[in-house]
Amino acid sequence: MPNKEFLEEYPLHRKLTIKLPVTLDMLPKPAIHMHCHVCESEQTFNMTNEYFDLFQYMNTPTKNTKVRLVYLCQSCKSFSREFYLYLSNNLDYIYKIGQYPAWEIKIDKNLDKVLGKHSANFKKGLVCESQGYGIGAFAYYRRITEEIIDELLDSIFDLIDESGKEEYKFVLDKTKTTRVTQDKIDLVKDLLPTILKPNGMNPLGVLHSELSEGMHANSDQDCLEIATHIREILTFLVNQIIQSKESAKQFTTSMKSILDKRINK
Ligand SMILES: [Zn+2]
Repeated sequence: MPNKEFLEEYPLHRKLTIKLPVTLDMLPKPAIHMHCHVCESEQTFNMTNEYFDLFQYMNTPTKNTKVRLVYLCQSCKSFSREFYLYLSNNLDYIYKIGQYPAWEIKIDKNLDKVLGKHSANFKKGLVCESQGYGIGAFAYYRRITEEIIDELLDSIFDLIDESGKEEYKFVLDKTKTTRVTQDKIDLVKDLLPTILKPNGMNPLGVLHSELSEGMHANSDQDCLEIATHIREILTFLVNQIIQSKESAKQFTTSMKSILDKRINK
């Protein structure tokens, strides 16, 4: 149902598939955590109105309805966010038809740095997402994936265990012989180190299938879903690679200082 993630993260027109209750008074009112423009920090917002405010009865049928949600910052009690949702006729999905303040076009800090000159295209992808232009968003994210894939696969090398380095290097060299991004990913995906596989999920495997699926998806709606996944995977991989290298470096430095101390005793 309108859940936290949906309200906080979903851009306009991205469908959330769910089972809706029959009447508006049965819809939940989850608290959300978003930026408050008065407090200038992340705050908790609670819904202060009723789904049926615009209608005569609290048990107004849910199907094929548009509702307004008003969320108030619990800290300053002055800044509010509003969402307008469409509830489907078959009670099987919802999506946003409006939002104030608008969905934010913000790029992850690490990703921005890694993308460098490609970050302009990434932002265009975000703009497309914010308007529900899934085909456009997919095209931009696919282009970026193509442009950074070599660098991305190269940078994974440092995270591979000593025992697996030789095999990875062999496959990595092979990736340079093809220009097709999906072929490159296909070669490497099974050699991904555990640290890049949250809960055993393989982000490169998912990236591979989302890219293929996106090529055949026709509607903005379907592409939007796929584009969001690609954006999330790229963001995860870049952050995880940077953090892993950073913590490995810190670990090495602190181990070295411990060993130095022992030697000097
Ligand atoms: Zn506030």
